[in-house]
Amino acid sequence: MSKAKILIAGGGIGGMASAIALLQRGFDVEVFEQSDQVREFGAGIQISPNGNRVLDVLGVFSTLKELSCNAASKEIRLWNTGQTWTLFDLGGESVRKFGYPYLTVFRPDLLRVLADEVRRRSPECIHVGSKVQNIEDTGHGVVLTLADGRSFHGDAVIGADGVHSRVRQVLFGVDEVQFSGMVAWRTLIPMDALPERFNRSVAVNWIGPGGHVVHYPVQGGRMMNFVGTLEGATWPGPPYRADATREECAAAFSGWHEDVLAMIAHAPSVTRWALCGRRFLDTWTRGRATLLGDACHPTLPFLAQGAVHTLEDAVVLSRCLEKHGIADGLGRYDALRRPRTYQMMRGAADNTSRFHNEALRTEASAQAFVDREWQAQAISDRYDWLFSYRADAVEV
Ligand SMILES: Cc1cc2nc3c(=O)[nH]c(=O)nc-3n(C[C@H](O)[C@H](O)[C@H](O)COP(=O)(O)OP(=O)(O)OC[C@H]3O[C@@H](n4cnc5c(N)ncnc54)[C@H](O)[C@@H]3O)c2cc1C
Repeated sequence: MSKAKILIAGGGIGGMASAIALLQRGFDVEVFEQSDQVREFGAGIQISPNGNRVLDVLGVFSTLKELSCNAASKEIRLWNTGQTWTLFDLGGESVRKFGYPYLTVFRPDLLRVLADEVRRRSPECIHVGSKVQNIEDTGHGVVLTLADGRSFHGDAVIGADGVHSRVRQVLFGVDEVQFSGMVAWRTLIPMDALPERFNRSVAVNWIGPGGHVVHYPVQGGRMMNFVGTLEGATWPGPPYRADATREECAAAFSGWHEDVLAMIAHAPSVTRWALCGRRFLDTWTRGRATLLGDACHPTLPFLAQGAVHTLEDAVVLSRCLEKHGIADGLGRYDALRRPRTYQMMRGAADNTSRFHNEALRTEASAQAFVDREWQAQAISDRYDWLFSYRADAVEV
């Protein structure tokens, strides 16, 4: 019997992870990426233990770990005074409780190790310069058409084409991207440009009224990843990303602690990202096609789980297809993944008022706020159900 062929729209984290998981199970796979090369934005990403478990299942964890940083702990700091609360042990405790560490990773490294593994298993299956335009369900299979007119036949399609997904639009009609009113200022700073006190393997979250800043080391500690999010922004519409200057960034964070301003002052370049979402869908699957990753669950990055859940999707989807076949497998995947993922998205949205709060304006009110919001049980309630998930073992 010939193997089922799965066509994947999008060669990002979700597309590559799905390709590996499907190839591991003997499916035939073709990946279509619109860019002229497999490429990730040069910034950091946090991969929690549930994501690292998936990367291990996909066979890339040890390679990626060598390139990354193992965060030892997480600190909360107050936006203006720098008061510090050390809250999580992300080192030994993470491995003890969840089986895997918490890594801070350079995004291009993550995508490269995934793409290398795809090519190792199927050297010709990634098609770059291939923008997906349409998909058609013939009843017996699918036809995927590219913007340049080429078409490909397969047994199912996965739309892993991100928040502006074309596949989502073809399957479920036009629904507008919703701008959250928040903008993330992102930069990577060479660690040796910063004072020595910054060179620690810690993920730091500065919280304040109307905004927060997250920073952590990547690339074995050679670079510092900085993401500063502020509320109350306007955005003119697409594109949802724009270059900015460090002077503009410094002005936006005026009044913040000198450590925040020191990082901005040493930023070689800065990019502004409009944080966007989309409405929740009642289903991700239609006929022989489904969605995965940001195409179906674009989330505010305030739990650092968007890509991690995309990795989980990939393994659960491949297991469902293997066990139940195309039609039932796509339905089972949808039913299994939507509730967990939507709960994660709500949790991320809830963190907005935790990270940005008027109670944080002064040290006196901040202490009581942090004591309440980050007490041990509350942290455990927010994160344990996320970190303990096993995409490779959950009943499908
Ligand atoms: C500021 C910020 C910080 C974040 N931090 C974290 C974090 O710490 N941890 C975490 O887990 N998540 C984080 N995320 C979320 C994470 O970036 C996303 O969830 C993840 O990138 C989703 O992967 P994806 O493959 O679904 O989509 P994408 O990464 O968007 O990839 C989609 C791919 O599809 C391609 N494509 C698009 N349209 C087409 C088409 N028509 N035809 C062919 N190809 C197409 C694109 O070029 C792209 O390569 C963060 C997000 C932001 C904005």
